[in-house]
Amino acid sequence: MWQAEVRVDLDAIRENVSRLRAGTSAELMAVVKGDGYGHGMIPAARAALDAGASWLGVCTLDEALTLRAAGIDAPVLAWLLAPGLPLDSGVTADVDLGVASLSQLDETVEASRRADRPARLHLKIDTGLARGGATVADWPALLDAAAKAQADGLVEVVGVWSHFVYADLPGHPTTDRQLAVFHEGLAMVERAGLRPRYRHLANSAATLTRPDTHFDLVRPGLAVYGLSPVAGETFGLRPAMTARARVMLTKRVPAGSGVSYGHTYTTEQDANLAVVPLGYADGVPRHASNAGPVQLGGRRRTISGRVCMDQFVLDCGDDPVAAGDVATLFGSGADGEPTADDWAEVAGTINYEIVTRFGSTRVPRVYD
Ligand code: PLP
Repeated sequence: MWQAEVRVDLDAIRENVSRLRAGTSAELMAVVKGDGYGHGMIPAARAALDAGASWLGVCTLDEALTLRAAGIDAPVLAWLLAPGLPLDSGVTADVDLGVASLSQLDETVEASRRADRPARLHLKIDTGLARGGATVADWPALLDAAAKAQADGLVEVVGVWSHFVYADLPGHPTTDRQLAVFHEGLAMVERAGLRPRYRHLANSAATLTRPDTHFDLVRPGLAVYGLSPVAGETFGLRPAMTARARVMLTKRVPAGSGVSYGHTYTTEQDANLAVVPLGYADGVPRHASNAGPVQLGGRRRTISGRVCMDQFVLDCGDDPVAAGDVATLFGSGADGEPTADDWAEVAGTINYEIVTRFGSTRVPRVYD
């Protein structure tokens, strides 16, 4: 018997990857960082590879090495690398490394020497996000140094890439501007004598809406898990995660009863309360107090009062409710249950954060 669980439908992940692949002639890198956006990095990676993803994308070296330790030998790119990491372990494990500065390039050269083989690099150029990536002014020095290190047999420049600011708002002019800057970067890469096999730019939103940004490889994350990056559009994707719990306790209380910490909710009439054993330690945003939607007994209800660390309460009015009944916080929506998008809206966040936080807690993950 289970108390609370996050169910992950791996068929949905496979279906989503197939759908994304059908919309492009580029290869597909499934982004599985953040523990596969909360879905479990290893099972998500395997499902994506089953469905034809040929690359995996992660942030940290540890994530990449965890994929290798699980026996996954597909190409992996890791792109968030603080100074001083043992990058030679990545080089030895055939992990491709994202490089955005001369000092990062120096570190990969050192790692190549220690590993006694050339590091495989993807040079990241900033086209406007002002986050990772070398700014335009720094491109010449980085590209020249990378070309020299490659000529010396110290590194192999496998890719050049960048990341969008606004692809989730189709038609936003910044996307066109970034694409133009990326093309300038590619021309400079060529002038530096580099011919990387992979040019890549598109996240989920661009994969779904901007075929002109696909180049050789697309890098969707969110859409792999069936969530849409664009408000009001589903693109036929199927959400893979369901979060649910069994009612732990029910009680009848009189009208005027204050509920949960701070009594921010008061029953208007005599009511059946259901106590659900999930709280902010499990991923339920406290911002969803008095707002989070939950399906219980075939009806959508709203969390009554504050979300606590481990539990919350639902006012079910006169509806019959029993301990053990299943309360579904979100799922695909196919059975009328709320979705991660509904939760994002009431919690003032994005669907990315909802699934990532639910999947990374003490709640057991179960795979279908
Ligand atoms: N590429 C990079 C560099 C990222 O940081 C991310 C995620 O944030 C992705 C691709 C995937 O983005 P999305 O989940 O919007 O598809």
